[in-house]
Amino acid sequence: MIQSDSLLENVAKEVRVCKKCGLWRNRKNAVPGEGPYGSRVMLVGEAPGRREDESGRPFVGSAGKKLDGILKSAGLSRDEVFITNVVKCRTPENRPPSKLAAKRCSPYLRRQIEALNPSLVLLLGVSALSRFFPSREISTSHGEVIDEGGRRFLPTYHPAAIIYNPSLKKVVNRDLRKARRLMSRQVSPRS
Ligand code: URA
Ligand code: SF4
Repeated sequence: MIQSDSLLENVAKEVRVCKKCGLWRNRKNAVPGEGPYGSRVMLVGEAPGRREDESGRPFVGSAGKKLDGILKSAGLSRDEVFITNVVKCRTPENRPPSKLAAKRCSPYLRRQIEALNPSLVLLLGVSALSRFFPSREISTSHGEVIDEGGRRFLPTYHPAAIIYNPSLKKVVNRDLRKARRLMSRQVSPRS
């Protein structure tokens, strides 16, 4: 049987040289995602920013610092989650990825989910939410556990949204604590 780590490695290798959408022209480094291959939680952000593009690693800039803080206050650590994005290459001026780019990149994300087989997929922000659930709104769906295709998804606001709207911090912390409890199997998926 092929191990999930080699499947995830294969995705990463393909992503690093991918030219399936125009975003490759703008990148220094593609950012496939990272985390332990045994992670039970996957985090899906939007797109790499400047620091991520320079380093090839997800969430290492200011949004990454926010993310670390949020994870910590929920009792989760970066070392136990797999972090990736809807698109793997930087977008011009950090704009949200176009529908076309998100669609072209989606087989990588799908393969990563299949390979990792996480118990919970945290959708960070509007781009991640609309990739999976196009008709949902973040304001009404955040913190809700969505069962879909035998998997659990939990949308919350993007960490960068907290930089612009600090009052969202409490909301995101609450959502993430719920994720933490789910991981400890203390709440049913529908609570
Ligand atoms: N914002 C994202 O959505 N992803 C990153 O990797 C960094 C910032
Ligand atoms: Fe390929 Fe995705 Fe990068 Fe577009 S964003 S070039 S589809 S890896």
